[in-house]
Amino acid sequence: MGYASSGAGRAAHEALLARQDAELRLMETMKRSLQAKMKSDREYALALSAAAAQGQKMDKCEDLNGSLIASAWRTMTEEWENTSRLIRANAEALESRALDRLITLMTERRKTRKVYQEDHTKISSQFTQLTEEVQRKQSEYQKCLESYKQMRAKFEENYLKCKCPTSRGGRKLDETRDKYSKACRRLHRAHNEYVLLLAEATECERALRTAALPSLLDQQKRQGEATAASWKAILLEVVRRSDFSTDKFREIQGRVECTIQNLKPQDEYKEFMEKYKSPPSTPITFTFDESLVEDTSGKLQPNQLTVDNLTVEWLKEKLTELESTLQDNREKQTALHGPEIIGNGVCKNNNTSVTNGVNGVDRHSPPPIPVTASEPTKLLELRVAERKCARQAELIRAALAELGCEEAPSGCPDLSAETVGGDSLDGSSPDHQVSVSEAERSLVEQEWFHGVLPREEVVRLLRADGDYLVRETTRNHARQLVLSVCWGQHKHFIVRTTPEGHYRFEGAAFPSVAELIAWQRASGVPVTARSGALLRRAVPRETWELNNDNVQLLDKIGRGNFGDVYKARLKTTGQEVAVKTCRVALPEEQKRTFLQEGRILKQYQHPNIVRLIGIAVQKQPIMIVMELVPGGSLLTFLRTRAGALGPRPLLAMCRDAAAGMRYLESKNCIHRDLAARNCLVADDHTVKISDFGMSREEEEYIVSGGMKQIPIKWTAPEALNFGKYTSLCDVWSYGVLMWEIFSKGDTPYAGMSNSRAREKIDTGYRMPAPEGCSEEVYALMLRCWEYEAEKRPHFHQIYTIIDNIYNR
Ligand code: ADP
Repeated sequence: MGYASSGAGRAAHEALLARQDAELRLMETMKRSLQAKMKSDREYALALSAAAAQGQKMDKCEDLNGSLIASAWRTMTEEWENTSRLIRANAEALESRALDRLITLMTERRKTRKVYQEDHTKISSQFTQLTEEVQRKQSEYQKCLESYKQMRAKFEENYLKCKCPTSRGGRKLDETRDKYSKACRRLHRAHNEYVLLLAEATECERALRTAALPSLLDQQKRQGEATAASWKAILLEVVRRSDFSTDKFREIQGRVECTIQNLKPQDEYKEFMEKYKSPPSTPITFTFDESLVEDTSGKLQPNQLTVDNLTVEWLKEKLTELESTLQDNREKQTALHGPEIIGNGVCKNNNTSVTNGVNGVDRHSPPPIPVTASEPTKLLELRVAERKCARQAELIRAALAELGCEEAPSGCPDLSAETVGGDSLDGSSPDHQVSVSEAERSLVEQEWFHGVLPREEVVRLLRADGDYLVRETTRNHARQLVLSVCWGQHKHFIVRTTPEGHYRFEGAAFPSVAELIAWQRASGVPVTARSGALLRRAVPRETWELNNDNVQLLDKIGRGNFGDVYKARLKTTGQEVAVKTCRVALPEEQKRTFLQEGRILKQYQHPNIVRLIGIAVQKQPIMIVMELVPGGSLLTFLRTRAGALGPRPLLAMCRDAAAGMRYLESKNCIHRDLAARNCLVADDHTVKISDFGMSREEEEYIVSGGMKQIPIKWTAPEALNFGKYTSLCDVWSYGVLMWEIFSKGDTPYAGMSNSRAREKIDTGYRMPAPEGCSEEVYALMLRCWEYEAEKRPHFHQIYTIIDNIYNR
């Protein structure tokens, strides 16, 4: 069944029209979709072009010269631009060659549909017309037939009537005959017309059905196919313009791929290296700046670890810390790489000299750390860290090994220096390694045993080679006995104990230290082979080194900063003395400060300076033994017993104090804490300067650390403001002392806080004269309080002024 034959029916016709409508709708949909696609293609092309432009914004400086990666990237981004252009061209072609054609096709399709519909309607109406004409003719025919029948009946009726003899109507018969004849003619004509019309209609219907309609349908078929062909062409265009695998795209892809594939990583830096090649950098040598140790009296040597009493403990701790770090490091390396790799980077040479370990890069440079390209960075880091620690540990071990059994030498060059060596005077710890045994007890009886005598004093006592003494020190809460010998320099050997409780150095062991020392001296064997030190002359205790057992404490007469002060008796002579004790629990530093007063006082002999009798350092508590000044503290005396005293005895007290201070000034001793509370008064009212805890034997002393516990109201402005102390500072304090004496123990700047007093002084305020104080005495006070130190009188001048006033 052909399109024409099967599509001629009414249903087919309507379906065809519906189909054409649907096609038009599809075309409309395609149009919109293609417009959207073109838009998105154009946008993508634009975005790609922007991305290419972005990618081409490369570093223009020369640093990337010769970089293959950079060049490949440039190619890639250029090809992106080409791709963008292609996509844009395709989008434009899609518009002109597909979309526009589709729109035209739609227009044509609409037109042909309309023509078909019109033609089809025309043919249909012809069919209708024919049918109607036939029906009309048929009804005409029917009417003619009825009229004929009527006329014939009338005629026959009239005819019969006329045949009757009585009929007189011949004329009527004629009329009816005529009518009958006319009706008969009409009927025959209608009949013929009807026959002819039927023939015409039949022919016409056949012509329409077999020729016009099929022709119309055939035309429709052709037009449909033509539309489909155009449509297909349009779709083909769409396909082509959306094809990213066309030759042009493939060429682009090929070019980019080829560029990237041809990248040779090994050539990446070839040109760069050619351009910038330079000789390898020389290793950095870290050298010791020898100027740093120029002023250290040879105590510190370049490139040499210093092992002395100030550093030995620190070095040991550092070694322990390094060893623990090394252990930790090795465990980490094992975890990373297994045990076989460990220690590759470590120089195992333990014989490295202590003296060249730090800067001895050239002579002792360790082998380079083996590093493979694939070795993890973490492992490399661990190896470098290991080497650093191992090197330091080696140096410390070697330095400590050099020391052997010798006690670390003093790190302090000067006997009078404020900071002293690491000797400890505290033997109270229960953990001490060397306990004072029965055998040691006899030590106290040995004339060469000096107890806890500070190392500075020991050094002063040992003058000639072979001079020796034994003393006691504390290290890490453990008491140690130390043999100090002068042998070239001062050497200090720790007395070792064997597991049996015997004593030895490097040679034989003895049950007591006394026997050990006796053997050491008699045998002529050096204390240690390395030191070569021989014992020749035992240095006995000096008279001021008192035996604690010889001091009998009686009554407590005061309380000092470090401990209680007692009235005491020396058993040997029965002499009554004053004894300052130092609390056993005080830290070492404070105990050294306590003894400092004794060291300073030991040198002074003056009626107005409290006299030192000795120090007792054989055992705890350590003591400073002084002359007993029965009146006690001047301040207490002034407040309690000076009520009846007139200006003259008060002036005499001032003169005493000036005499004592004149003596100290002549010895370059700055007291730094002159005040009535630190003076003592004898029965005859003689005043003696006491409490040398803060004293310094220097012309000028600058406090660099914090200024703690400063007696603000007694201290000169330059000392408060700049930490600068001279005897002229003592002069300022002396002015306050005079004021205390004449005010009989009043508190200076009463009612003012320290800071307020300080502020007032800075603005020129000075305390008014005490009651009963003469003008010239007050004038002297004011001179002592001159803000500028140089304007103050010296003590010898003060003494003369007071003496003159007194003698007038
Ligand atoms: P610290 O210097 O430890 O502060 P002090 O020198 O101030 O100790 O002494 C405290 C107290 O002990 C004094 O105020 C005084 O009463 C008494 N005192 C100190 N030394 C003697 C002495 N040599 N004679 C008599 N009493 C003294």
